[in-house]
Amino acid sequence: MNVSELNIKVSKTENSRIHPLTKDNLVFGKEYADHMLVCDYKDGEWGTPEILPYGNFSMSPATSFMHYGQAIFEGIKAYRQPDGSISIFRPVDNWKRMNVSAHRMGMPDIPEEIFMEGMRQLIELDAAWVPGEAETSLYIRPFMIAMDEFIGVRSSETYRFAIITSPAGAYYNKPVRIYVQDKYVRAAKGGIGFTKAAGNYGASMLPAAEVKKMGYDQNLWTDAVENKYVQEIGTMNVFFIVDGVALTPDLNSGTILAGVTRDSIITLLKENGITVEERPISMDELEAAHKAGKLQEAFGSGTAASMSFIANLTYKGEQLDLPEVSEWKISPKIKAQLDDIRYGRVDDKYDWRFKI
Ligand code: PMP
Repeated sequence: MNVSELNIKVSKTENSRIHPLTKDNLVFGKEYADHMLVCDYKDGEWGTPEILPYGNFSMSPATSFMHYGQAIFEGIKAYRQPDGSISIFRPVDNWKRMNVSAHRMGMPDIPEEIFMEGMRQLIELDAAWVPGEAETSLYIRPFMIAMDEFIGVRSSETYRFAIITSPAGAYYNKPVRIYVQDKYVRAAKGGIGFTKAAGNYGASMLPAAEVKKMGYDQNLWTDAVENKYVQEIGTMNVFFIVDGVALTPDLNSGTILAGVTRDSIITLLKENGITVEERPISMDELEAAHKAGKLQEAFGSGTAASMSFIANLTYKGEQLDLPEVSEWKISPKIKAQLDDIRYGRVDDKYDWRFKI
């Protein structure tokens, strides 16, 4: 199938809910744009994608994904550009990652044309829902669920792919307090840590609530074998600047999500002449660096916050404080460069912007 052959059925709403989208009235994830895209899979193939008014799905209580969790998703953002046009940040990479998730979860691949052209037409139709104020965006949520009405345990034969969107305000970017988790584990080798499967998030809710109660913002997961090597934070990858070198866990273990922001930041760090080491990073190493005064900066990276600076890390009762962000030399500069690319304020030399 190529794009010219792709037929998308469009039914427009007659009751648009659009209203002025200002920073003050944008509550992320509470409000959805007027339309959604839905495409169903049966008999081994995807049907005609449909763009239709945003609304409820009606399904049997025996629908497979509700019981056995064949459910995957993606998170992408569209940004209003200075000339008023709209760009989506690196959506092809999300399409590829969605199929990595689909494969591991025994679900069918979603064709590039349906994902990309479906998204393009959806955002074009709901363009008014992309806010324009500084640091705002339209969050795009593609997802796929197993649809068989069958509660025997086996892979579903029918699936639904859908895209919904939600306008997002500026992210609250105060440096975060991190709890280095050594009781619960997010992912083990051979498991599904590298996928964006719903179950990974379901399993993170209790640990997240517990650390919140203790006064921390987020968990930093460690490896499942020794609880010693850092992995990733909540919905972010993690970076440390140690003695001027950028360190981030490598992806070889299959336990970490390959973040699109992570990849973008690695590219920008290198362009700025910073050495990047993708390798296992132990808490022992970070503690030693902190003791020697070499743990200079640390941050999480992800589509939601772009970069979230870290104030401190607590591991087995010991709190490692990072220097004040005002003293940081590298991460704030990289964040500004990344935001400039997303918001179209500089040339798109890596071809990261997908124009609507
Ligand atoms: N890790 C996890 C577990 C996540 O959910 C996310 C958010 N998708 C990330 C890392 C960051 O990925 P990205 O930069 O593609 O948003």
